[in-house]
Amino acid sequence: MALIVQKFGGTSVATVEKIKNVASRVAREKDKGNDVAVVVSAMAGETDMLIKLAREVTDNPDCREADVLVATGEQVSASLLAMTLIDMGYKAKSYLGYQMKILTDRIFSSARILDIDTKRAKQDLDDGNIIVITGFQGVDECGNITTLGRGGSDLSAVAVAASIGADTCEIFTDVQGVYAADPNICPNARKLSRISYDEMLELASLGAKVLQARSVELARKYNVKLHVRSTFSENEGTIVTTEDDEMERFVVSGVTYNTNEAKITILKVPDRPGIAASIFKPITDANIVVDMIIQNISEDGYADLTFTLPKTDAEDAVRIVTSTADSMGAKGVSCNDRIVKVSIVGVGMRTHAGVASTMFTALSDEGINIMMISTSEIKISCIIDDKYTELAVRTLHDVFDLADKNATEEE
Ligand code: ASP
Ligand code: MG
Repeated sequence: MALIVQKFGGTSVATVEKIKNVASRVAREKDKGNDVAVVVSAMAGETDMLIKLAREVTDNPDCREADVLVATGEQVSASLLAMTLIDMGYKAKSYLGYQMKILTDRIFSSARILDIDTKRAKQDLDDGNIIVITGFQGVDECGNITTLGRGGSDLSAVAVAASIGADTCEIFTDVQGVYAADPNICPNARKLSRISYDEMLELASLGAKVLQARSVELARKYNVKLHVRSTFSENEGTIVTTEDDEMERFVVSGVTYNTNEAKITILKVPDRPGIAASIFKPITDANIVVDMIIQNISEDGYADLTFTLPKTDAEDAVRIVTSTADSMGAKGVSCNDRIVKVSIVGVGMRTHAGVASTMFTALSDEGINIMMISTSEIKISCIIDDKYTELAVRTLHDVFDLADKNATEEE
């Protein structure tokens, strides 16, 4: 007998019909003799709708109240699923974040999980219940409701799986698994059967939306085996686990892109100690997370400095940077938000030379100019003009052989 966590995303519980489908999937697992803990997202579009509602009341919703509001989305889907299961003759019980004692810090809208008290849940499982837990939410030590950030139900599922010692955490979604490239751009991209935590973490942080990056980090930390698969088919999806010998050895496992970044350049910054610190300190103080940074070689004691950051923070950052730039006598600040970061990821890069030059050559053969480059042990990212997004993804998919050789039409 196994203990399984099944997480269902918003599209899987979007309607009552779909909730019934989820219930029969959960029931099937229970019928096999396994213990099942389910984590659900809000019905598709519900969280966005709630956020919109708050904005209709005020431009600046109080953060504590905003979390009370958006947490209700998951309450609806969890209770509907539990009552469907009960109606089918199963013992089921829903749990809100605070009932499950998912203890978090008090950073409303992006809280971190500190602890989960599994005593009652375990008792209920032992008594034969299917437990249905609301994703995305927790409670701080004073009893305030908190939420974990968009896409946070994945994180809830992994945290629950780790804390109850589940054998597997299945992430049910509306795609068949993790693909080597966005199937909307590359319809014949390969579905990966297994992928390492490290690669998945890079893919998730770089823009692939199938799993929330923080959830992958947590899965890696607690060694929770993830299975990303479709709610609407029986096919095996993608297993995310520790790197092992069974994994297929691709030099590049996937190509991904992120259109949510902007790039800011400060022209002619004086080239002397302490300058980078005085530019980035106020940005960090404003809670803005900078991604790539390049500074070119100094000429006549001046250098240009360019960095990328989330598009949504660009306006604030320009304001902050302009004032720093003025005070240090730099020549000016410019911002470009028509950029995309395309990246290739693969553990094979550790042992293969020439991956970067293949990438750069492929892009240049298509006439795509590279504005910035950054690398890690298992990824290479390039910033390019966003009008080339699809062309770049398709080109890299082709040059690194990411197509499924035996793709069937329906997949
Ligand atoms: N309902 C939340 C969201 O839309 C959490 C989740 O779906 O994972 O972001
Ligand atoms: Mg999601």
